[in-house]
Amino acid sequence: MPAAQDLAAKIGPRVSQLLQDAKLLRGVIAGGSVESPSDAGWVLHPADWPAQLSADDARRWEQAQSAVLRHTGSAAAIAALDALHRTSASRAARANAELLLLDSASQANSDAFVELAHRYPDIVTDSGAPLPAVALLHALHAAPGIPLSKGFLDELTRQVRERPSFLTGQVLETAATPPNRMNTELRRLHEEWSDWQTTVDVLHEILKAPPRRGEVFQRWSLREQYLALGFPALGGSQINVAIVPRQTLAQLFSRALNRFPLPLHGLDAYVHITGERLLLPNGRLPRSSTITAAADGALAFPSPCPFTLILAADESTLFAAQRTRLWQMSALIFCAVAAALIGLTALWRGYQRQARLSELKSNFVSSVSHELRAPLGAVRLMAENLEREKIAEPAQQKEYYRLIGQECRRLTSLVENVLDFSRMEAGRKQYTFEPVDLVALMQHAVAIMSPFAAERGVTLQFTPPADPPQPCWDGAAIEQALVNLVDNAIKHSPSGAAVTLEIVSAGDDVRLWVKDAGPGIPPEDQSRIFDLFYRRGSELRRETTGAGIGLSIVKHVAEAHGGRVIVASEVGQGSAFGLDLPLRSVHV
Ligand code: ADP
Repeated sequence: MPAAQDLAAKIGPRVSQLLQDAKLLRGVIAGGSVESPSDAGWVLHPADWPAQLSADDARRWEQAQSAVLRHTGSAAAIAALDALHRTSASRAARANAELLLLDSASQANSDAFVELAHRYPDIVTDSGAPLPAVALLHALHAAPGIPLSKGFLDELTRQVRERPSFLTGQVLETAATPPNRMNTELRRLHEEWSDWQTTVDVLHEILKAPPRRGEVFQRWSLREQYLALGFPALGGSQINVAIVPRQTLAQLFSRALNRFPLPLHGLDAYVHITGERLLLPNGRLPRSSTITAAADGALAFPSPCPFTLILAADESTLFAAQRTRLWQMSALIFCAVAAALIGLTALWRGYQRQARLSELKSNFVSSVSHELRAPLGAVRLMAENLEREKIAEPAQQKEYYRLIGQECRRLTSLVENVLDFSRMEAGRKQYTFEPVDLVALMQHAVAIMSPFAAERGVTLQFTPPADPPQPCWDGAAIEQALVNLVDNAIKHSPSGAAVTLEIVSAGDDVRLWVKDAGPGIPPEDQSRIFDLFYRRGSELRRETTGAGIGLSIVKHVAEAHGGRVIVASEVGQGSAFGLDLPLRSVHV
């Protein structure tokens, strides 16, 4: 993957640059041993100075030692040591005698031990232990729990930096044992000491398989926790070693990678360096189903070191974004299909409604034409007969005139209905609410419909209530609605039956009933009969006259008054239509 190569080429120099500012441990190997830092005091060698003492000094030393060891005759021991201290030609013997003198003094003086350590930095005791370190241990024992003096810390610093020995760790630990003594300086000395130990340990581990002369090498050390980078110096006679803790290296790689965006979202990056996989902080071990890209890079500092950058991602992470996109697309397509289906359904419904409406309209036109033709035909026939004087009988002539008048009234009412309906359709129908004499209105409607009722052999019954309500309505519109209801009731009543009109008051509401003893209306049709142009039965076998707009007009009038029209009917039991209206209608 070119992106991985590009990245590896960029992070190599960046990590090298970061390493220059990082804390590295450094050491030098020469001639198969550690040259720096000094580890001379690390191995205990018996001291050679006791063997070089003169016979007199050797005797004095022995006397003094045995007196100190047996704790007998401290006066004798002191005398022997004093003599040795004063007379001995050997500096080492004098120093050791002084140490024993201080130790056997009744009042041990901590500062005197520190001063002794300072004066004899290079002297060892007869057992080979470095005298300054032993003196510092004595100083600590002489003043337990007392804060460390500056002289002590200076001497300890010198020992850690210049003459570390197998006793340095013990001195540091003893010094830090009372927690109140642990100060910044002592903490720094502990760190320095730990670095010294690590460096020496790494160098000794390297020396177990010494690098060839002039070799540039990279090796993991101390259980793979430190990367040692070696490169020759001084013409190859020395090898410089820089030691980088594994954690530091991982952090620096991570920092370098953070500066450059990974080529793909969901990728993990890690580094292979000298046979070790270096997991970066926040990085996680990729799973087996890993897709990888690898690219080689190199560090230039502190010495050349190749590495391989691995970009890895398990499929689930890598394709997560793609899967999300797929889901989004699927959801989008699903929504689009759903919207299209809803649209199509709405279109289909609209089309069907339109088709049904145009069918109803054409039915309406044919019904209206039919309704007009029949009375017009009858009127024309009667008028022609009268004109040609075919009707001689004055009584019959009178009957003809009456019939012509009746047919004309019916025609007028039909035309009024149609005109009203078209006004309502166009929203142009105006209602004027004013006080109405309800009883007179009802009686007028009955009077209008009486000839038709008589023609059909139907009786109209209306008994005004004792205390009739006084509503505020559009009288003409209500009368027209009543006429439509009475017209329907007569049309559907059998000959000899009665149609009853009633006024029922209930508080602020009035119900006007028109009841008949006709065939009734099945429940499934009861809500549909108020639909525009709806007529029960087939158009071909039309039992009653009409155009299917009468009840639509009734409904419109009722709603314009803030009321409603209800129907109570059972097949074979007649029908009752009720106009439910508030006493005072207001414009809405
Ligand atoms: P039209 O009477 O002109 O057909 P309407 O809107 O007045 O139109 O009535 C719609 C339908 O309701 C009628 O076709 C009829 O089948 C039914 N209907 C109306 N009033 C009654 C009634 N009193 N008894 C039985 N059916 C009725």
